[in-house]
Amino acid sequence: MTIVGLDDTDSREHGMCTTYVAALIADLLRDRGRVERLLLVRLNPAVEHKTRGNAALAIHTDVSSDVAFEVARDAIETHAATDDERTNPGLVVIPGGPDDPSASDGPNAPDDSSALDDSSALDDFGASAGVHDALAAFARSAVREHLTIADAEALVEHAGYRSAAWGDGRGRIGALAAAGAWAAWPPSSSHTSPGDWTYECISYRERERWGTPREVDRDSVFAAAEAEYPAVWDTVDRGEGETVCVPHTPCPILHGIRGDDRGAVERVARAIEGEPVARRDTFLTNQGTDAHLAPGTVDGVLDGRAYRLSGTVSTPPETRQGGHVFFDFADPDGEYEIRCAAFEPTKRFRDRVRALRPGDRITACGEVADGTLKLEKFAVRDLVATERVAPTCPDCGRTMKSAGRDQGYRCRDCGTAAAGKVERGIERDLESGWYEVPPCARRHIAKPLVRGGFDAPTHPER
Ligand code: ATP
Repeated sequence: MTIVGLDDTDSREHGMCTTYVAALIADLLRDRGRVERLLLVRLNPAVEHKTRGNAALAIHTDVSSDVAFEVARDAIETHAATDDERTNPGLVVIPGGPDDPSASDGPNAPDDSSALDDSSALDDFGASAGVHDALAAFARSAVREHLTIADAEALVEHAGYRSAAWGDGRGRIGALAAAGAWAAWPPSSSHTSPGDWTYECISYRERERWGTPREVDRDSVFAAAEAEYPAVWDTVDRGEGETVCVPHTPCPILHGIRGDDRGAVERVARAIEGEPVARRDTFLTNQGTDAHLAPGTVDGVLDGRAYRLSGTVSTPPETRQGGHVFFDFADPDGEYEIRCAAFEPTKRFRDRVRALRPGDRITACGEVADGTLKLEKFAVRDLVATERVAPTCPDCGRTMKSAGRDQGYRCRDCGTAAAGKVERGIERDLESGWYEVPPCARRHIAKPLVRGGFDAPTHPER
């Protein structure tokens, strides 16, 4: 199998969308052979160059790499929004196995024997195609770290891959990462294992409607989402009454339906009523997988990466101007601290965050930016159950007053006394387990709790 990886063909102002360019390329390849699958791979959401969701695309096909390269290059040339100087498309084509006449071209062609992942899951394209460990490692880094154009160029050069670049060539980073994604996360049926792939069925608008308001029947979206939940998730936000599957950008997408089951996402897409659909394509994706979260420690975090951290709430959550909620979070030894934030767009999630108290043990997940962890989800491990308060007078029931330093408490009216503070149970508005931002605030790559596979009970938002 040949793998075509592409990225960075769209522009915030001029529209377009790399998923759409990939779908057009897939059509052209279908005229010449078979297309096995389309991958929509979300890369590090903290990357500053992204247009929106940092998506990169890959196409797996049996068309020879020479032909696939020509076809993809011409399509990018025609369709990429290169008028925008911030659009820097990249294309990488990885030759396939023995059936591909161009697979062994070039002095630097991948060495099948050196870097194969022997997973049988790769047999249908990867193992025999000589997918480099380096390529898989590149894909893993692209989801959690920051790579440079030089990193991409070095790998392309070393492996002898066919590639093309426009503008500054930045798109080759995503193109390579998308091309390596199947090898990086060999598919599996378990949600908790690395090869966790989900689906998105994208319906595209007719070209003449691009940039105009979308006509989608809200009720049909809510009804279709309900019918297939929880196999299909993040279609709507019931709490906010929002159709989150419908974008607001000038891009060609009418709606994108995400879920665990291909048939279910396609049924939901078909059931939604609205303006005519020009085409529909289903992608395998790493959306909803938490692939961006790395295990970390409070003292070791770096800006621009996302982590899963264990520790203790160390200050009471405070709501600041704009409705953003902040608290400090300490590592288990209480030695290092980081600020955690639930920003206003996370809506009702902020109530869960405000319910935390100093001393609660939690696992906090999110991206670190400017030294602050932007919470995407957290797990309550241990809640503070009691607090020490001034005792109440056994005669009148009122709170006793301090009798002075180290002199206990007294009720001035009744003359009763107590030695010191007493323990009182606290009513907590949280339970043990995972809490998450609502669908309207979900990052593409973040895993909705309803998907399961978490290490504690879950409290899914829908
Ligand atoms: P859309 O969601 O509409 O497809 P986008 O948000 O994916 O747009 P791009 O236009 O693709 O944004 O821009 C992202 C750019 O960042 C690409 O050039 C890509 O190669 C690059 N990139 C992706 N991941 C990384 C990374 N981990 N380190 C450095 N650069 C990256």
